[in-house]
Amino acid sequence: MTVYFVGAGPGDPELITIKGARLLKEADLIIYAGSLVNPEILCYANPGAKIVDSKDLDLPRLMRLMQEAVAKGQKVVRLHTGDPSLYGAIQEQIRQLEAAGIATQIVPGVSSYAAAAAAVGRELTVPEVTQTVIITRLGGRTPVPEKESLSKLAMHQASMCIFLSVGMIDKVVAELLKAYPTTTPAAVVEKASWPQERVIRGTLATLAEQVKAAGITKTAMILLGDFLGNTESVSRLYAPEFSHGYRKGKK
Ligand code: SAH
Repeated sequence: MTVYFVGAGPGDPELITIKGARLLKEADLIIYAGSLVNPEILCYANPGAKIVDSKDLDLPRLMRLMQEAVAKGQKVVRLHTGDPSLYGAIQEQIRQLEAAGIATQIVPGVSSYAAAAAAVGRELTVPEVTQTVIITRLGGRTPVPEKESLSKLAMHQASMCIFLSVGMIDKVVAELLKAYPTTTPAAVVEKASWPQERVIRGTLATLAEQVKAAGITKTAMILLGDFLGNTESVSRLYAPEFSHGYRKGKK
């Protein structure tokens, strides 16, 4: 039996993959992170399935629960918010399951950075503005290697999606200001794709005060970069004179 690590998406139950929804329907045991996953996603579960919130479990208990279910021939889904490959803490679970001879499979999901970009209605990779997205966080209880500090990453002036850091907004802004101008457009999206979604737009100069005034302390994405500004640039992909593998351009 395989244990499936399924991406639940950012919140909207329609933003889970078809495969993820099918696995939820087939699962005998679903373990989900209640602090982040929208419980409405559980509407796909079989009414007879056992559903456990992982927030009360440490790793040994989590492992025991999954192993016991697999030993009984049950199908197990470990439901993670967004895409499991980002800040999902899945590596140690996979390692331990594999050491116990249990196969695992990851089913990708729509990450919250993509849902946040959708909420602000912007492309993260605007031609001639930036072609790079930096996904990162501020060090907290989980440290970030010094070579990846926000101030160092900020030197690229690429589009940034900052996870897990809105509760430390003053520190985030101070680090970013070491490289970005105060006028850099910035946004915070709280609970992207949930009914309670909130979007705050400003600049690096205003963002910290706006976030604090709105009382946003968690489940929010900080977006930063010129992609949020009023860029005039257009992708050459759809330009009439631009030929590519699928279309011949007009002279
Ligand atoms: N694997 C997840 C991230 C888990 S870490 C993903 O791919 O999205 C949890 C952090 O993700 C939160 O602190 C927040 O920064 C971000 N996050 C998760 N869901 C969010 C949402 N709906 N809107 C905005 N940010 C979200």
